[in-house]
Amino acid sequence: MKQILWFRRDLRVTNSALLSKAKDEVMPIFIFDTDILNSLDKEDKRVSFIYKSVLSLKKQLKALGLDLAIFYGKPIEIFSKLKPLGFDEILCSCDFDDYAKKRDEQVDKIITLRRYSDSYIIKPWNALKKDGTPYKVFTPFYKNLSFIWESDALEEFEVNKDLKLITYDYEQVASLESMGFDEVELPSFLNKTAHELIEEFSSKIEDYEEQRDIFYKSATSSLAVHLRFGLISSVEVFNKIKKLKGANIEFFIRELFWREFYNYILFHFPKSEFENFNGLEVSWNQNEEDFERWCEGKTGVPLIDAAMIHFNKTGTMHNRLRMIVSSFLTKNLLIDWKKGERYFASKLLDYDASSNIGSWQWAASTGADSVPYFRIFNPYTQSAKFDKEGLFIKSVIPELKDVDPKLFHKEGALANSLFVDYIKPIVSIELSRKRALEAFKGAKNEKA
Ligand SMILES: Cc1cc2nc3c(=O)[nH]c(=O)nc-3n(C[C@H](O)[C@H](O)[C@H](O)COP(=O)(O)OP(=O)(O)OC[C@H]3O[C@@H](n4cnc5c(N)ncnc54)[C@H](O)[C@@H]3O)c2cc1C
Repeated sequence: MKQILWFRRDLRVTNSALLSKAKDEVMPIFIFDTDILNSLDKEDKRVSFIYKSVLSLKKQLKALGLDLAIFYGKPIEIFSKLKPLGFDEILCSCDFDDYAKKRDEQVDKIITLRRYSDSYIIKPWNALKKDGTPYKVFTPFYKNLSFIWESDALEEFEVNKDLKLITYDYEQVASLESMGFDEVELPSFLNKTAHELIEEFSSKIEDYEEQRDIFYKSATSSLAVHLRFGLISSVEVFNKIKKLKGANIEFFIRELFWREFYNYILFHFPKSEFENFNGLEVSWNQNEEDFERWCEGKTGVPLIDAAMIHFNKTGTMHNRLRMIVSSFLTKNLLIDWKKGERYFASKLLDYDASSNIGSWQWAASTGADSVPYFRIFNPYTQSAKFDKEGLFIKSVIPELKDVDPKLFHKEGALANSLFVDYIKPIVSIELSRKRALEAFKGAKNEKA
């Protein structure tokens, strides 16, 4: 048996279905896929991170007596070239977004593709309601999985130690520059391994539930990027966190299952990548300038601007800020969630199709188990509640460094101040809230 082990979003050797299920002769590979890379900015931080992670995977595979062939090009062309070498099948980890599914279908026609589920804890096709249909609401979905999250440890895949490496030229590795990308500096947490991040987080987990919304603090695990690219699997995160034992462990595990839920929703409802999950037909605002000002952080609302400016610079955004800016875009500006989703996809370091689509639909009140349309975040109240001293806003917007933070928390206060020259807010929170309520109340529901 000759197999290709195609690493994609599972850049690790631990708990790896590929390394466990493989037999006999193998050729581990990674493809820098030009169909994806060609649409990215040459300074995309994710490419630098993946590049570093792929080289590290190569090293780890070498330590197991294997290696990693690194390709640059279109997967179908690469597999067409590899086919004459006599491979029986390709082993890879499942991926459910539209692009991945279409790509895999094409590859499967060249060499049989065998897919394994090791990027998530649950297999979406297994967790159904008694009537055989999928859950659409998180809480019953989660409760039904208590047999999983109540366990102390979940089974992990073991590496098959009897694999033989197929002879090939493994030394050819394209540089980042030759692929058209610059090596860029990464936020410091990305220079840490997932295990180091868990180690750091273990001293914070007791306060996680209480502090995780305070966006100027580092009170969360920062594991999303490592999970996204599979440097650690969610099963390993689960097992490591369970070992900590303590009051707040269950709360964290529940959050981890939101990732499972959104992947489950995308698997069962693939159209939710492109359409409102609940069929609501909202008359969105088509004003391009409003959207651009949101993207650039020039809305005149200090917290929204700080969150977006910080995001544009770092590719990171705290969960609470994601909730606030997505609510502002879809409700106060009444702009289609798909535009926000695409903007996040273009920059977010932890961008993951299922979580991003699910969360954007949640914010827009068009998704599975989403926020009711009348619960609209007020960005001024949010900054008063979670950043009373304006620490986050001041750290991002230098011209507001010496401003009394009270001015951040009251609508129009900055614009009316004689001492500060700041952009006038593009919408009134009260009026835009009323407009959103009317638009959502009047929206037709094609599925109703
Ligand atoms: C509009 C919007 C877009 C989002 N887009 C993404 C995305 O593209 N990729 C992504 O991983 N998360 C996304 N999230 C969810 C959440 O913001 C991030 O998972 C979280 O901020 C990552 O930080 P952390 O690893 O420190 O999380 P922690 O609080 O430490 O949580 C641990 C892990 O649980 C999972 N998790 C926690 N909360 C959520 C959630 N609400 N939804 C899904 N998974 C969750 C993540 O894998 C996270 O790494 C989005 C949320 C919103 C509101």
